[in-house]
Amino acid sequence: MSDLNLEHWWQPFTNVRAFREQPRIFSRAAGSFLYRDDGQDVLDITAGLWCCNLGHGRREIADAVQQQLMELDYAPPFQFGTAPAFRFAERLVKHCPDGIGRVFFTNSGSEAVDTALKIAYSYQHARGKAEKRRFISRQQGYHGVNVGGTSLQGLPNNRQGFPVLAEVDFLPGLLDIERNAFSRGCPKFGTQEMLKSFEEIVAVRGADKICAVIIEPISGAGGMLPPPIDYLKTIRELCDKHDILLIFDEVITGFGRTGSAFAANEFGVTPDMITAAKAINGGTVPMGAVLLKDSIQQVIFDHASTSAPEFFHGNTYAGSPVAAAAGLAALDIYESEQLFTCGSGAKGQYWADTLHAMSDLPQVIDIRNYGLLGAVSFDHAELPEKTLGPKIHQRCLDNGLLCRAVGDHMVMSPPLSITEQEIDLFAERFRRSVKQVLATGP
Ligand code: PMP
Repeated sequence: MSDLNLEHWWQPFTNVRAFREQPRIFSRAAGSFLYRDDGQDVLDITAGLWCCNLGHGRREIADAVQQQLMELDYAPPFQFGTAPAFRFAERLVKHCPDGIGRVFFTNSGSEAVDTALKIAYSYQHARGKAEKRRFISRQQGYHGVNVGGTSLQGLPNNRQGFPVLAEVDFLPGLLDIERNAFSRGCPKFGTQEMLKSFEEIVAVRGADKICAVIIEPISGAGGMLPPPIDYLKTIRELCDKHDILLIFDEVITGFGRTGSAFAANEFGVTPDMITAAKAINGGTVPMGAVLLKDSIQQVIFDHASTSAPEFFHGNTYAGSPVAAAAGLAALDIYESEQLFTCGSGAKGQYWADTLHAMSDLPQVIDIRNYGLLGAVSFDHAELPEKTLGPKIHQRCLDNGLLCRAVGDHMVMSPPLSITEQEIDLFAERFRRSVKQVLATGP
């Protein structure tokens, strides 16, 4: 595509100047593959950006979107409604833990996070506890790019240089390779130590000042880090003990990633709110959501005037009928192909076995998996830290494989629809790429 002018689109999270030197353009996608403009197939082992959980190019979603566009492309969501949004909300909550029965739609994960913060503030205010304004987040956490979410970020690069809300404390991150290397599923060690600081934060700040805890059940952009055993249950208990709301940011872990519809179901822990986006409609039309307990909405409603909106917040495209129609079609596929649970069945097992068989590769210091998530961590050896990962990433691309480098951790989240043959192809391309980079193979 030599006719493309690369000057005008400032791409997100991209080294634009390097990109212009070596453009990477995809021109087509189908099933588990993206196709580059030179025709090379690239196995998409990241499901786009953790969002194309159904694979690419689902005809049913395309048809639903087209039909909705022609029937009712848009109507204002403020003071009005459309059937697809109501239907989608009703069906979504059927997949949530009991008690979570309300949906506030947004256009992205970042908006879902900032919306959840505002719901949390409103809830505390409505129950006469407006002093509860602080948040607790976690190192290595990623919560989107809006000002609220940026303030909660536990990834330093994403915060630096931006003025952020001051009222946030951080729990330690989940990475503990020394004790937990090569765990399958949840690692054994760390819950008590990692959560000791919860009580310390409460002691310093005061429970009467803390509004909510927000964490990813499994840290995603921080390097695919499952929580140690009982970590999430313990957080729930601590939040209950101190009257603090618990928000699970499930923008990555939602929609079958962990082997259940949501990580909340998978781990048997009901948060007060879940933020979701990405795979909500298979990564096709921008959409996010806050899924919340009925009881939280009720407190806000009870406090609000009966003649004004109960919550002064919302986006122009919230609950877009087109995005919701895509969501309904995506849910049909998730349900009929039983994709929400495939990560905890035979496919999840095959994925875990394939991943852990990579331990014979050179310089591998950890392999982690949960559901259809995976990570292989490398010792960067004599290279500067965080340069080996990008090298492997580039070589994988050259060999027709899209995975993600988080520093020297290679992170994977295949489409849930991936086949065993495609998992084998991933292993072959990944092994070959690693060996080439480390110059120990052809
Ligand atoms: N939360 C988490 C856990 C995420 O992984 C992301 C995106 N990677 C977001 C929030 C932000 O979502 P979006 O990019 O759709 O704004």
